[in-house]
Amino acid sequence: MTDTSTSAAVTSGLADDVRTALHACGVDLSVVGGDAVVASPITGEPLVGARLDTVVDIDAAIGRAAEAFPAWRDTPAPLRGQLVKRWGELLSEHKEHLATLVTAEVGKTPSEARGEVQEMIDIADLAVGQSRQLYGKTMPSERPGHRLQEVWHPLGVVGVISAFNFPVAVYAWNTALALVCGDTVVWKPADATRLSAMAVDALLARAVADSGAPSGIHQLLLTDADGSRALVEDPRVALVSATGSVRMGREVGPVVAARFGRTLLELGGNNGAIVTPSADLDLALRGVVFAAAGTAGQRCTTLRRLFVHSSVADQLTLRVVAAYESLQVGDPREDGVLVGPLVNERSYEAQQAALAAAQEQGGTVLAGGDRELTDVHPDAYYVRPAVVAMPDQTAIVHQETFAPILYVMTYEDLGEAIALHNAVPQGLSSAIFTSDQGEAERFLSAAGSDCGIANVNIGTSGAEIGGAFGGEKETGGGRESGSDAWKAYMRPSTQTVNYSGELPLAQGVTFI
Ligand code: NAD
Repeated sequence: MTDTSTSAAVTSGLADDVRTALHACGVDLSVVGGDAVVASPITGEPLVGARLDTVVDIDAAIGRAAEAFPAWRDTPAPLRGQLVKRWGELLSEHKEHLATLVTAEVGKTPSEARGEVQEMIDIADLAVGQSRQLYGKTMPSERPGHRLQEVWHPLGVVGVISAFNFPVAVYAWNTALALVCGDTVVWKPADATRLSAMAVDALLARAVADSGAPSGIHQLLLTDADGSRALVEDPRVALVSATGSVRMGREVGPVVAARFGRTLLELGGNNGAIVTPSADLDLALRGVVFAAAGTAGQRCTTLRRLFVHSSVADQLTLRVVAAYESLQVGDPREDGVLVGPLVNERSYEAQQAALAAAQEQGGTVLAGGDRELTDVHPDAYYVRPAVVAMPDQTAIVHQETFAPILYVMTYEDLGEAIALHNAVPQGLSSAIFTSDQGEAERFLSAAGSDCGIANVNIGTSGAEIGGAFGGEKETGGGRESGSDAWKAYMRPSTQTVNYSGELPLAQGVTFI
């Protein structure tokens, strides 16, 4: 196999770049340098220390958000939109700085890091428009002289828990909408991405000051597991919107449910694509490789299972393997690199364990899976994305391993492929590559993909913010971002107004 990993020594300078970006975004560098040191997956080197909030700090922060809520709730929604508009402007101005931080903390290529920041800008735009469209419905009343209507009111404090792999975009999907909906927000980012969180928080603080909004409406919590639990348990937090693994969802969901709070869960995916005999294989190849190997397989929508019709399986698999062997793996800041590092050693070990299990279950590794660049970056974890031919959808294929492994399986009949596709516990994103409209429609129908996202001739990753994002089954059922996802951040009030001067009762009931 050709070694196309980059071997040039990193010029490092990461910590300096991070400090410059933090300063430009308005983070007070005299308050950083705390105990929670964030390391870069690119080199393994420590970047900058962040403060660590205690349970007492968290109680106070939630208190500030709760106190700010009534004033923010009572601010007209289009004025709330002006704050988000200003935030969006600042995010645009600092797009490069934020992308630098995302690259340093997550190891994304600059292009993907900029794409992540662009999602924040896009959702801010969407939310500003939404601030004038928090529509309720008016229904015909069965009683004369009555009006029946539904009005959407702000909910309260929204707790946002975010995952490391989309450290700022998913938080922004939640926050831009929650703010225009009249809620206040408390954010707990992933431990690995505290620095980009500090920068985004500083920009939001500036937008709050510039727009004259109440200062307590957003709070950043940099905390550990105890602090996270305190946030989840706190009855003042009306909605907990949590993004992360199914394991996390299983821990968070019941705690919030026990206090009758609301959750919006965006959990793990195990996304599949079907390639039918009529597919344009050039297009399918590009769609598959970007979805499966992009972001080093660390997207919730990463393609992990590929079902190829037996008539085109050899041809497509050979081309996927060739593409994988030519992918440049390395420091994402270097030109030509498409695959950066895994986030940490734990991810690498999970990948190795999954590859070993796949082989025990009859799989054959066709490409990748090896660690690379250990000479230049002994403290970082670079792997070549792996392609594994599986005889069947075995136990390991049912699991989400958050690393780049693409399991390839063949099928004969589309019904069989759809059944296999739907046979895993997760239900986030899915795709079919086909030129046959009947096949596409079947996949999109109620009897087709059981996922929250179903695509035709596009891979499973790279969603736009205009549509609602989220998935079914163990993925948690939440929907964020576009469409009517805003309703999760509000409470509907059903209102009946009697202007008849009489008191007719519903259902024809007679009383006094
Ligand atoms: P993770 O579950 O380890 O952590 C996610 C977040 O939850 C972090 O902020 C973490 O500190 C917090 N957390 C963990 N346990 C908690 C608990 N008991 N109480 C409160 N907070 C807790 O996930 P990760 O490794 O950061 O991210 C990768 C996972 O996230 C993958 O499974 C991926 O599919 C998923 N993900 C899903 C989506 C989606 O929209 N569906 C988006 C991005 C990532």
